[in-house]
Amino acid sequence: DAKMQSVLSSLSQVARQLEALPSDRPAPDTSCVKLNTNENPFPLPTIIMQSAIAALERQYLYPEDDNISLREAAANAYGVSKDQVIAGNGSSELLGLIYRAFLAPGDSVAMMSPGFSFNRKLAMLQGAQFLEIGCGEAHSLPVEQLLFGPAKDAKFILLANPNNPTGTFVPVADIERLLAQSDRLIVLDEAYVDFAPDNGLRLIDRYSNLLVLRTFSKSYATAGVRVGFGFGHPEIIGRLRNIQNVFNMNVIGHAVGISILAHRDAYADNHKHIKRERQRVTLALLQLGFSVAPSHANFVLARAPAGQDGSWWQAALERQKILVAFFPDKGLENYIRVSIGTKEQMDAFLAAARDISGSLK
Ligand code: PMP
Repeated sequence: DAKMQSVLSSLSQVARQLEALPSDRPAPDTSCVKLNTNENPFPLPTIIMQSAIAALERQYLYPEDDNISLREAAANAYGVSKDQVIAGNGSSELLGLIYRAFLAPGDSVAMMSPGFSFNRKLAMLQGAQFLEIGCGEAHSLPVEQLLFGPAKDAKFILLANPNNPTGTFVPVADIERLLAQSDRLIVLDEAYVDFAPDNGLRLIDRYSNLLVLRTFSKSYATAGVRVGFGFGHPEIIGRLRNIQNVFNMNVIGHAVGISILAHRDAYADNHKHIKRERQRVTLALLQLGFSVAPSHANFVLARAPAGQDGSWWQAALERQKILVAFFPDKGLENYIRVSIGTKEQMDAFLAAARDISGSLK
């Protein structure tokens, strides 16, 4: 109606620009095997679930200010000081703060590519230029390009390790080389690090230009609870906390986060399972003619056999009620990304993939 049109005409230019981005949020179909957003398929350990219930029994007041207890618990668990920790509603919230804190219209930011799409949206929201620096077929860290190429004036550099959507992992020594040679902020997004052989958190004491992001969404099975952390120099962390929403997290996030930090060992079997299934799915896809780069995350990126494309595979799997991800906008037209779920979910995926592959012969 006319009122609605009038309201929409007041939308900012940037809000209109964002409408052009591909939407990656299909309606959840609970009858599908959901392997498209890298969640962890297992329920929370009972002891952690009980902490959420206890939090609700305890209080309906505003949550603790500045997430102090959660930050202290994270500081103790990871061997840093609480001034080096910021807590967020998932690491997405912390990414948003970084963009707001460091980018003005006309500035630029660089990301190792292909990478996590949300970053492009955040750059657009700031009116900033988003530079994607390809890491090539070998998926190695393009240190020289990041230092001296088109990204040399970027306000900060973003790299995810392991990377999404490739699942590839670059040696922490390469990241250290970049940190040592650059005086710009390097944001190291370690969303998938608990499935990988190493991590870069130890470098925050040596390099004040490093900010490490972690999330409990993937390895600690709480994507719906929203708990994430940033670790870095107290000065930088302090500036980010300064622009954060008041009461940004809720009491369940606080309680579950603290409980997970106290019981991280309760997830050993979970992580072992995911790594084992990742290996099994990789081998099975190779047998079907896919190419799969070794993954260090809780998903695999698989290139369809010659002459077949990713969108066709995604649609064929969806007809069999299996949801996987497809990224036509990242130069990955021939790929699908498959999250690693339970053994039963992966059996269902592989049965469907074999069926589809067989029907092509
Ligand atoms: N970084 C990367 C690389 C991701 O893949 C994701 C989730 N898809 C996130 C950050 C955000 O995770 P969350 O907000 O759930 O912590």
